This record gives sequence, structure tokens and C-alpha cells, in this order.
Amino acid sequence: MLPDDRVYAYSAVLMGSPILLKLFAHNESLASRVFRLIKQQENILTVNRPHSDIMAINLAAGSHAVAVSQPVFTLIQRAKAVSLLPDSAFNFTIGPLVKRWKIGFSGNSVPPASDLQALLSLTDPRQVILDEQAQSVFLQQAGMEIDLGAIAKGYIADVVRDFLRQEGVEQALINLGGNVQTLGASHTNQENATPSGWAIGLKTPFAAADALIGVIHVVNKSVVTSGVYERYFQHQGRCYHHILDPRTGYPLDNELHSVTVICDDSIDGDIYTTLLYGMGVEQGLAHLANVPQIEAIFVTRDRQVICSSQRQFAFELLDDRYRLK
Ligand code: ADP
Ligand code: MG
Ligand code: MG
Repeated sequence: MLPDDRVYAYSAVLMGSPILLKLFAHNESLASRVFRLIKQQENILTVNRPHSDIMAINLAAGSHAVAVSQPVFTLIQRAKAVSLLPDSAFNFTIGPLVKRWKIGFSGNSVPPASDLQALLSLTDPRQVILDEQAQSVFLQQAGMEIDLGAIAKGYIADVVRDFLRQEGVEQALINLGGNVQTLGASHTNQENATPSGWAIGLKTPFAAADALIGVIHVVNKSVVTSGVYERYFQHQGRCYHHILDPRTGYPLDNELHSVTVICDDSIDGDIYTTLLYGMGVEQGLAHLANVPQIEAIFVTRDRQVICSSQRQFAFELLDDRYRLK
């Protein structure tokens, strides 16, 4: 095995998250280019600042269409398609509700039900008109807002992976705060040339930041986790977290504390964490039985860890308060 001191870690804070890049050669300038690339993408896709391509679309809601670059158009097409799946918990027009709840930002309170009801009328993905010729996006009603928060990090993780590949990098890990993408293996066993997996920690919900339920081992895969414990506030004994149910306007309420998705592309992982969150364990497992390229780990409130098929990863349980099923 290559000793761990061959791994060079670079970190930054971008997109409101700690970002970690691991390389097997000391290469400060490559790391800077990766961080610049992430910053560029963030500037295009964010809705947490006054200016971005997405904000331009949102500001023109009810008024006019806005042309965007080809990759952004393709990303929005994908987000719309996923939002239109039957019973989808994923809805990229959830922006007005996200802004109203402000979960993860200061000034949280539970909005009156009538406010949420009114805002639900602004979250219809069919009212996002995409013109393929003009590569433009038009939100039909004033007040509508696209929010790519549930897909952007996955998309950007893949952009970084593709960039590193182009640069000839064969082994790397990029962690965009819950969205991990890996290139190749973390080690190669020198004796039998077997690649060993990257070890990615699965956090214990509502515990110290470094507390782990277990470790996920993957080679050349993306690992995306969405948990209710990352951004939330409490009010009158209830926990309100940042994944909203587009059918009710309230945070998704079920037996789950987190969902982790293991697959090739991080964009799929990011989309699927939200979809599976909406499905819950039973329906989620049934759904995944027909989608072999997507695998998942569900963590429930009552401390069960439930894995789907495990062809693309291995899971090692560390916390004996949890039961592995
Ligand atoms: P994480 O923030 O842990 O990466 P997600 O990938 O699920 O979690 O993204 C959550 C973000 O997506 C929220 O902060 C919000 O911006 C947006 N969002 C919230 N609910 C939904 C939803 N039902 N569909 C699509 N996007 C959502
Ligand atoms: Mg995400
Ligand atoms: Mg997501």
C-alpha cells in the first residue's frame, strides 16, 4: 500500500461549505485551479447572491425569457425532467418556499400555513418554459424562483472530476460538503496490484462533527449524502430541516435521518438523495431494485442502517448503537 503521507489534502470554503481536495502529488497550482473552477460554477448557479445566471432567470420571472450557456441549459432541462417525474419529491421551482423558510440562515420561524399555501402556487415546474433553439428559460409567473440547491453540488463535483481527468489525474477525491466524487482508487496494493477503495465517513446524525456511523469504501464512484441534521432549526420540540416537501410546503417528514447514494455521476447521486428522501425506505428500496446503477444507504431515526444492493461499495459499521440491515 502507498502510505497515507503520499496523500496531499487541499481545503477551501466555497458554496458555504468546507471543500476538500485530495491528490497523490503535491500540486498547489492544480488545487488552485480546481477551487477557481468551483468558484466560477458557484457564481453561475447560486441563488444566495444578487447576481448569477440563475438569479437573472428568477429576476425576469413573469416578464421575459433569459438565455443561458449550453451547460446551464442542459442542467435546467435535467432538473425540470426530474421535477416532473410522477410523485417526485424533487422540485427545482421550490425557491419561493426555500426563501420563506430560510432554513440554514438566520431568522428562522415556522411560516403560517396560509403563506406556504400561497407560495405552493409558484412552484409548478411545468411553468418553466425552456426554448431549446434560443437556449432560454422563462418562468411564467412573477415570483417564481428556480433553486438548484439539490443538484448543483453534484453537477459541480462531476465538472471537477472531468477537469482532473483532462489534466491526467488518475486518483483524486473531491468533497464538496456532503457530495464526494472520487477518481480511481485511494491506494494500490503493491503486492497484488489490487486497488483499495476511498474511505468515506458516514456521519452520525445530530452528533459531534467527527462522529461516524461507519465508513463507505468505493473506487471511482460518487458518494452523496443528504441529511436532516445538516441544516435545521427547532421550534416547540419539532425539527424543521432544509429538504422541503413540494407537495405540502413543509420539511419532508418521515422515518429518515439521512440518505446516501453511491453511483458514477455525482449529479445522479444528488438528484437521487432528494428523490429517495421523498420515497422513504420501503418505497425507495423497491424503486432501486429496478435501477441497478444507483445504490443507497438509508439511516433511520430509530438507528437502523439499511443498504440497497452493494455492488459498488462496501460498508463498515463503526457505531454499535446502530443496527445494520
Ligand atoms: P444538501 O444541502 O444536504 O446537499 P440536498 O442536495 O437535498 O441537500 O439539497 C438541499 C437544497 O435543495 C436546499 O437547501 C434547497 O436549496 C433545495 N431544496 C429543498 N427542498 C427541495 C426539493 N424538494 N427539491 C429540490 N430542491 C430542494
Ligand atoms: Mg446536495
Ligand atoms: Mg441533492
